Amino acid sequence: MEPVEAAARFVREQVRPHLDEWERAARYPREVVRGSGLTGLFSPRDAGGLDLSYPEGMAVFEELGRGDAALAFSLSMHNAVAAAVSGADDDDLRGGWAARLVAGEALGGFSLTEPQAGSDATAITTRATEGPDGWRVTGRKAWVSLAGEADLFLVVCKTSDEPGHRDIAMLAVEREGGGVSFSELYRKASADFLPIAEMTLDDAPGRMLAPPGMGLRAALAAIDVARCDIAAVANGLLAEAIDVALAYGSEREVFGQRVVDHQGIQWALADAATDLEAGRLLTRRAAELLGTPEGSVAVAHAKRFGPDAALRAAILCSEVLGAYGWLHDYPLARLIALAKMLQVVDGTAEIQRVVIARDLLRRAQGR
Ligand SMILES: Cc1cc2nc3c(=O)[nH]c(=O)nc-3n(C[C@H](O)[C@H](O)[C@H](O)COP(=O)(O)OP(=O)(O)OC[C@H]3O[C@@H](n4cnc5c(N)ncnc54)[C@H](O)[C@@H]3O)c2cc1C
Repeated sequence: MEPVEAAARFVREQVRPHLDEWERAARYPREVVRGSGLTGLFSPRDAGGLDLSYPEGMAVFEELGRGDAALAFSLSMHNAVAAAVSGADDDDLRGGWAARLVAGEALGGFSLTEPQAGSDATAITTRATEGPDGWRVTGRKAWVSLAGEADLFLVVCKTSDEPGHRDIAMLAVEREGGGVSFSELYRKASADFLPIAEMTLDDAPGRMLAPPGMGLRAALAAIDVARCDIAAVANGLLAEAIDVALAYGSEREVFGQRVVDHQGIQWALADAATDLEAGRLLTRRAAELLGTPEGSVAVAHAKRFGPDAALRAAILCSEVLGAYGWLHDYPLARLIALAKMLQVVDGTAEIQRVVIARDLLRRAQGR
């Protein structure tokens, strides 16, 4: 089956019918993810992956966004880890972990953020030190998704006291390798099934994935792909919101005509549909440019636009349902909360503007 079709079926049969149950139990659907066939999207075929091009992968993430953006976010992060480990120089990582991650038998997590370092990744203090028995990591990470659930975390660390990013490295740390513990799970506005917590590393053994000096670049390259995934997820969320509003508004009558026959509603939905078209074009262009010098800025445009447009559309479509938009029977209140989450994950909308503005200024100065 084509990956996009597989993703649509996964959402239809495995995600939508079980979301309420996962939320009530506050339990990550590990077995469902494992059986999804979507855990090695960008990993090479010799590691068992699907080796999708980025535009093909984004079509998959749009489908996942129609189901649940928090689950899609976790799959985006896992796929970034699986792809990085599949391409690692370290034989043990590539040989041992890659196949398990790609098959979904093991889950991957990404630890960059720290309590004092969110948007400014160069302010991290978690420290990796090389000793006779290899690298050890000590520090505290915040907002670690799949906390207690992922088996292997890519941890971004400093390797010296030097300020700045020249010594930053990225290491792979096993959850069960010793020295790793988690705080109580964060209590969030939605997506209770996605565990997020602080992670404490206390002399935890790690394997070098991107050596000092290359760590920030490797992390940002992975984040660029993840930002593009999130733009695609936002497009899916927006498309879902419009579909729900159309279905409801085609049935419900007010003042003698269907809700969707009121011109004010039609124009608002038309604007949302234009945003969807624009979001898809921005995401496709960004996916095509990923890995080139223009990739980061193209991704920033798509990641800035998609979640903002999705949030606007989710609010509008909820209004089309009137009071019913607020009920759990319809997904719109959940879509509003998730669109808000998409604005923040993998770099806030403001940080995307920082990337775009920096490029504008560079061009203005002819550099
Ligand atoms: C659901 C969820 C899951 C997450 N999962 C992970 C994960 O698995 N791993 C991980 O490492 N991180 C994760 N994060 C963390 C996320 O990447 C950070 O929250 C995000 O990068 C922003 O950092 P912060 O919250 O500390 O905001 P801050 O950096 O404290 O920023 C606060 C506000 O100031 C704005 N701001 C910051 N700098 C500027 C500037 N230069 N100009 C203008 N405005 C600015 C920001 O946009 C924001 O509005 C997750 C976050 C969420 C919400």
